[in-house]
Amino acid sequence: MMKTRLTTILVFFFVTGIAQEKDSVMLSKIHEEILLRGECYDNLRYLCKGIGQRLAGSESAAKAISWGKKTLEEIQPDSVYLMPVEVPHWTRGKHESGTYSAMAEDGQLKPVSVALTALGGSVGTGGTITAEVVEVKSFEELQALGEERVKGKIVFFNKAMDAALINTGAAYGGAYPIRGKGPSEAAKYGAVACLIRSLTLADDNYPHTGATQYEEGVVRIPAAALSAVASRQLSKDLKANPGLKFNLELSCEAFPRTMQANVIAEIRGTAFPDEYITIGGHLDSWDIGEGAHDDGAGIVQSIEVLRAFRALGYQPRHTIRIVLFINEEFGNDGGQTYARCAKEQDEIHVAAIESDAGGFSPVGFECDLNDHQYELLKSWSGLFDPYNLLRLRRGGSGVDIRPLKGGRIALFGLSVEGQRYFDYHHSNNDIFENVNKRELELGAAAMASLAYMLDQTGIPSEK
Ligand SMILES: [Zn+2]
Repeated sequence: MMKTRLTTILVFFFVTGIAQEKDSVMLSKIHEEILLRGECYDNLRYLCKGIGQRLAGSESAAKAISWGKKTLEEIQPDSVYLMPVEVPHWTRGKHESGTYSAMAEDGQLKPVSVALTALGGSVGTGGTITAEVVEVKSFEELQALGEERVKGKIVFFNKAMDAALINTGAAYGGAYPIRGKGPSEAAKYGAVACLIRSLTLADDNYPHTGATQYEEGVVRIPAAALSAVASRQLSKDLKANPGLKFNLELSCEAFPRTMQANVIAEIRGTAFPDEYITIGGHLDSWDIGEGAHDDGAGIVQSIEVLRAFRALGYQPRHTIRIVLFINEEFGNDGGQTYARCAKEQDEIHVAAIESDAGGFSPVGFECDLNDHQYELLKSWSGLFDPYNLLRLRRGGSGVDIRPLKGGRIALFGLSVEGQRYFDYHHSNNDIFENVNKRELELGAAAMASLAYMLDQTGIPSEK
């Protein structure tokens, strides 16, 4: 009896050992293929420099969709197709400016030009709005001021992201409600416009845009983000001269919603063709900068996973889908449409991996999964250790894949060394030059490694 059990244990370790050895060789091959012959950096250069910014609904987003389809087709997967997605259509327009006069050290009034940019979805000013500015740091401060002191003025939410938080994503999450709800909250007290301090940890003069959401039934007022430097300056000038008049001009416009598409490439699985592993990022970006980190990086990394699997002659057991989602930034239409279609088709989705945290050095994975799946993931730590992929943080994944949540699916987000992500995020500084080739490639190799392990091992449904 003892002997039989011992033999069973030895056989188990022998088989597991062989499996780990085989997997270790494959992970090494994946890294070698991408680090020596990777094409993701060249693809990112084209996406950023050849196409540039690609706000959903824009002509350049349509160009990016055509480029994505063509680039995936060149890798010759089993199929490439477009999934129609309805997206908003909003334009920033040509003019956006903020000016006021402030007392200089010599006692003279000097004009100040403010680095600002409209928040995504903002209404325009219809000419120039000139009004006094009232500065607050929170919704509570706004409420305390009340209509009497806010009506007819511009509300300036001067709230920075919490620099004491090591997880910059959490710091962003903490400041995010001001951008999303600030304009409608200010409008409830009769404000004529809303300014916010940009959501960034950098101390520079780049304003950072991002979506704002107007509340139904509340007057829509124009809204813009000021750079960190401009916010500090305005705050200082308001203390010296509380009655200063701010001139705001924004020429944004909204148009009817329009049709664009998710781009999808598939390699059919040999053992489980009806079970899907989705790998993706979002093809749209904000309309300033080049969307290099957010999320050009995730797009070219996802394409690179497919290219590396093809180059290595890897035939997956499950069907692998590369998805270039459209419109994450402005309503998550691509992710929601993809999940809705999956449900309508009764598709079995076992795992999804997204890269949308910037093209920085990977350090592991955010994961949204059950305990049994988490134990399995942890058992791979010996394989992931040589690639510094040991950080497994539970609870997160990616905005585009989150609508797939439910049932058996395990969701993953590529986790990176993200201290600088919000320096670039949604700004004119999110350009190709700020992405490092090697870090980008390591991220692609990390995604391919995880996809390979999930595909080989299968994904347990429950404990
Ligand atoms: Zn993003």
